[in-house]
Amino acid sequence: MRIKLHDKEFDLTIPSKRIQDAVQDMADDINAQLFGKDVVFVAILNGAFMFAADLFKRIEFNAQISFIKFASYEGTKSTGNVKKLIGLNEDLSGKTVVILEDIIDSGITMEKIVDQINELNPEEIRIASLLVKPDAFMKNYSVDYIGMEIPNDFIVGYGLDYDGLGRNLTAIYTSSDAEQNNIIEKVKYFLLFGPPGSGKGTQSKKIIEKYNLVHLSTGDLLRKELESNSRLGQIAKKHMNKGGLVPDDIILGMVAKEIDANKGTKGVVLDGFPRTVEQAKSLDKLLFNKNYEISAMFALDVEEDELVKRLLERAKIGGRVDDTPEIITKRIQTYKMTTAKVAEYYNEQGKLHEINGMGDIDNISDEISKVIEAISQK
Ligand code: AMP
Repeated sequence: MRIKLHDKEFDLTIPSKRIQDAVQDMADDINAQLFGKDVVFVAILNGAFMFAADLFKRIEFNAQISFIKFASYEGTKSTGNVKKLIGLNEDLSGKTVVILEDIIDSGITMEKIVDQINELNPEEIRIASLLVKPDAFMKNYSVDYIGMEIPNDFIVGYGLDYDGLGRNLTAIYTSSDAEQNNIIEKVKYFLLFGPPGSGKGTQSKKIIEKYNLVHLSTGDLLRKELESNSRLGQIAKKHMNKGGLVPDDIILGMVAKEIDANKGTKGVVLDGFPRTVEQAKSLDKLLFNKNYEISAMFALDVEEDELVKRLLERAKIGGRVDDTPEIITKRIQTYKMTTAKVAEYYNEQGKLHEINGMGDIDNISDEISKVIEAISQK
């Protein structure tokens, strides 16, 4: 859904139900952790009024609330020019202060608020922010309660405004203006998916050359770790030599690093990742926080006899240590038991493109190219 405020258009990005669920989760944590303490909630006006009201309704112990005011926004960009706080007159000694903020953007405003509240000698200060922009956040203090992380875009609604309008909206809307969101061109992410031996590596190489993309193969990254005999490599080896999967946390750490390293590129082809639904969910979250998303998944379909034949052929030409008949069988089994479900996950998002992987290599890559070009023209 698109709305217009003044001269700008905004698209619905966070529905009100998701906001309310996030507020409930934050209230649950606060109720569990701060029950029995002498708590003063301090809401930062104007933006936090709606969040503060919704959260405070859900607080199940006796507590006070105060509102302080402070103007740092002029138009759509944070000025970094923070003025003095007004409205906090209570004695805070011995109290637990929970600062309620709608959004932490650069973090400069929050740092000044914490400094000024600290002068009133509270026992402790905690920070609760409905929204946090991790990409824009420059400060080194922790936010104790976070509703959700969002990309570095300009948003309105649920207390947040664009030049005075939009505060009454119960959902959150994102500006459709790329310049305002600091997006020049989004990095596109393509997934090359399929069982071992289906041609993921071969097709990845063709696509990255044709479109000048970056190849990110978790199998290749792991083999490098094995070669250097790193601690990570030693752990991975145990799983790879049995045809099983390397634990998700190792894989996700590796991928997150690579995604950060490839920020300025046109696009990335992910080969051999994600291999579990958990990995897929984590990847979606990671990309969402950076304002990227998966553009398409290409699932190569190849008959099992052909897979085994190809992998045994590869073994003959000095292939990989895991290309033995025994490990091949196990890898195919792992694919069927665990990895195949990932295709269903992306099918539900309408991103799955099934490709017949049995034919000629160039024909297969033409099929993939057609989809990539259609997406690029959108
Ligand atoms: P590949 O080169 O993609 O066939 O990967 C070789 C081996 O590395 C696999 O059999 C797994 O043991 C491991 N591996 C590669 N990617 C992943 C991943 N995304 N998750 C878990 N294990 C992986």
